[in-house]
Amino acid sequence: MWQSPGHFAVKPRRVGTLLWQRLHETALINALSALIKGAREMRQSRYRPCASCGEKQPPELLFGDQVCPACSEPQTYRVH
Ligand SMILES: [Zn+2]
Repeated sequence: MWQSPGHFAVKPRRVGTLLWQRLHETALINALSALIKGAREMRQSRYRPCASCGEKQPPELLFGDQVCPACSEPQTYRVH
């Protein structure tokens, strides 16, 4: 008779603490991924579409006329 009430009283507690630790870990990972996602979204929100091809580019790659390096090349290179 090992299924005594005593065993049942202890077991749920252990499962409870294990569950809590896992939840805690998940919350930490969720918080971290939310931070990473936020940083990525912030960077992407700074991206501007090229005035010529509409491709989103980081602002440091866009020239004064909001054109990406590929589109700012002389047109003869792209046409032929
Ligand atoms: Zn372009």
